[in-house]
Amino acid sequence: MAEKSRATVKKRTRSAAASGRGKFIAVASLLLFVVFQAFVYHFYFALPLSINDQPRQAFKGETIGKLLARKGIALQRGDLISVSGKVLQRGGGKPPLIEVNQKRTALDRVLKNSDSLFISNGTDVQERKIRLLEPLPQPTLQEDEGPFITLVTHGYPGLKMIQKGEFSQEIASEEIIRPPQPAIIRRSTNVPSLVVALTFDDGPDPIFTPQILSVLQREGALATFFVLGKKAQEYPEIVQQLIASGNALGNHSFSHPDLGQASRANIEHELATTERILTDIAGHNTKWFRPPKGSLSPLLISTAALMGYRLVLWDIDPWDWSKPGAETIYQRVATKVRPGAVILLHDGGGDRTQTVAALPKIIALLRSQGYYFVTLDQLPND
Ligand code: ZN
Repeated sequence: MAEKSRATVKKRTRSAAASGRGKFIAVASLLLFVVFQAFVYHFYFALPLSINDQPRQAFKGETIGKLLARKGIALQRGDLISVSGKVLQRGGGKPPLIEVNQKRTALDRVLKNSDSLFISNGTDVQERKIRLLEPLPQPTLQEDEGPFITLVTHGYPGLKMIQKGEFSQEIASEEIIRPPQPAIIRRSTNVPSLVVALTFDDGPDPIFTPQILSVLQREGALATFFVLGKKAQEYPEIVQQLIASGNALGNHSFSHPDLGQASRANIEHELATTERILTDIAGHNTKWFRPPKGSLSPLLISTAALMGYRLVLWDIDPWDWSKPGAETIYQRVATKVRPGAVILLHDGGGDRTQTVAALPKIIALLRSQGYYFVTLDQLPND
């Protein structure tokens, strides 16, 4: 009995040991399985990342497009909108923005661990604005009474800049670039006098323009100065002196290029820049334009006309710029003068000592012939 029970105890001990080992194996394999699952999940399926700074998970190998579809996120293009904000075309704006780690990318980009994804809908785009120049009509005024008619000034049409939406044609803005100046007709009982118009190009010049101005003042004569925008900008006080003494201004471009060869944009820029400078200095613009070197093209003529300019060259050119001597300059004017003549001289662009010297003689001779010296604005005939 004692023997038997000892054997039974032995047997029991052996089987208890066997069942303990079995449990350990089961727990261990379960643990291993869980660790394996976590390992697989972590390294195979789940990629931690962020969308717009919110933590999210993607599957390994998943593209941005698939991830967004799975999350139910649909990105939209922006719209094309008019200048007043109306939608002209749905989806006509910018495409959605998709960035990974602050670099733009596409929907087929495969996501990686810790990617920082930033997405947003496309922004709206406003239609382009086009600029149009429109003339503003000018009134005609009459002064005094009598049967004889002279034109005091042609005046000029105003100019309005309109910005319109390219597709909608909606008006975005309207700006009066230049108010219209009335044409003035003078009636009188006297026969109109003999007149000539002295014109000076390429100034203002700090040395020669004041000298010419003092000759004109001394002789009681007026002239028209075709100034360069860049010189006027440099010497605004000389331009002011010219106007204060009753002389007229003309636009001779900003930088004296050959505008007969220039594009429309270039012509407009040269004229408009000078126009702004002169308006700033004088408080009004000029209607007169003389192209540098007298160089012309159909485009130049039409562009200047559309901007409201009257284009003027000259009748008499004594070539004073070539410095032929004061006496020659005087003789060339004296032999060619006729009523209504426009005489070309230069106050800038070089040494104008000869022009300054010839001027008192020219004025004295023409005055003795009965001429009056007027600005282009006062010249009655075109
Ligand atoms: Zn010139």
